[in-house]
Amino acid sequence: MEAHDTTKIIGRGHEQGSLLFKNWFDGLSGVAERSEASAYVFVMGSFVEILRCFDLPVVFPEINSLQMAVRHVAHDYLNEAEDFGFSPDICGYVKADVAVQLRGGEHPAGRIPTPTLAVLTNACNTYIKWAEIWERLHGTRVFTLDVPGTREVGATSRPGSSDFETDRRYVEGQIRELIGACEEITGKAFDIDRLRQVLSDCNTVSSSWKRIIDLNRSRPAVFNALTDGTVFLGVANGLRGTPEAAGYFSDLVEELEYKAENGIGTRTEEDYRLTFVGVPCYPIFRRFNELFTDWGGVFVNSTYLWFASGGTNLGFEYDLEHPLESLAEGVLLSVRDAMDSMFQSDRVIGSMIEEFSIDGVVYHPIKSCRTVSTGLADSRRALLAAHDVPTLFIESDMMDKRVVSEAQLKNRADAFFEGLAARRLREAAG
Ligand code: SF4
Repeated sequence: MEAHDTTKIIGRGHEQGSLLFKNWFDGLSGVAERSEASAYVFVMGSFVEILRCFDLPVVFPEINSLQMAVRHVAHDYLNEAEDFGFSPDICGYVKADVAVQLRGGEHPAGRIPTPTLAVLTNACNTYIKWAEIWERLHGTRVFTLDVPGTREVGATSRPGSSDFETDRRYVEGQIRELIGACEEITGKAFDIDRLRQVLSDCNTVSSSWKRIIDLNRSRPAVFNALTDGTVFLGVANGLRGTPEAAGYFSDLVEELEYKAENGIGTRTEEDYRLTFVGVPCYPIFRRFNELFTDWGGVFVNSTYLWFASGGTNLGFEYDLEHPLESLAEGVLLSVRDAMDSMFQSDRVIGSMIEEFSIDGVVYHPIKSCRTVSTGLADSRRALLAAHDVPTLFIESDMMDKRVVSEAQLKNRADAFFEGLAARRLREAAG
């Protein structure tokens, strides 16, 4: 067998991911300059499967906003939106986007086109109010899909049951209405074979996403769920349903399988395996991660990789013989799972502890995102009642550096690791 050239495999996911991302933003700038139609969508139920059939370029405002925080310019945009009248309390992603809209699409990575269509689900209530802003500013056509969530903890309907079939048909009906709206907007006829092709590319991303998450059961972990995971997540969301994303994820699985087979971990000497609950601290992203890696802590999984992928962690693959029926089933299962990953994080984390050999759980509730953060204190209590696992509860923000105190975060993280070290010594002593 031909030996792998490791210089070409390891790190490929980062390089290719950055390039794909840059190309994507360049493409959006072109759309904006030519004043062509675009669709704004969200990570939890993006419906790119349908939009790509009509060649509608997709814009993810959540990704645009987090990019501003990572590039350390979010505060300018937040201030502008607050001066315009938006409260400091609301989702920072919304405010940063409002400022982008007020600036005619100006964004540090390029120019963002104006939304012709916005497609959203009920996975986050902010989505609904956010789209109303574009409707007011630009006359954007807004299409809201209602995806039935879990009605009762532990009693989620499963495929094969009449409850599930009722919900699936309800989603399918809405997807058919979305197709009609896209036909009206673009003047193009829906092509079911094009949908099959898009679904096939989505299937590669979906199965790969599940495989990648599973590969981090390896010790050492093959990627850091907080940092590397965010790069992978960007491609999974932004380019899903394209041959480029399918190729990228096939390569990424090859890279991470190679690392797992050869015991190659992340850049951190792994002492503690952690999992992360919530949304990362993007205003000091690198430094935030170092608070953990400096102690040998590596994030091997996170609820973020689950809910912010819109439930792609399930690895659901569409049945190409029944594309619309299967799309409705996949949306119902995946978006519902994304909601459960936010609202029932104790169950998600509980399932990770043994499977991923977790030493500690880091909760990061943030000011800007009530949807993910509300209830995390209770969720942590529920986890601790069921599992003997150390936890850290730190608060900051994903966008707003005014509420990020690096010194306080460091103090808390240091104390957490001292506790982990003491616990290990106690366990070693029997
Ligand atoms: S409130 Fe949270 S989940 Fe909702 S749009 Fe804002 S960041 Fe996303």
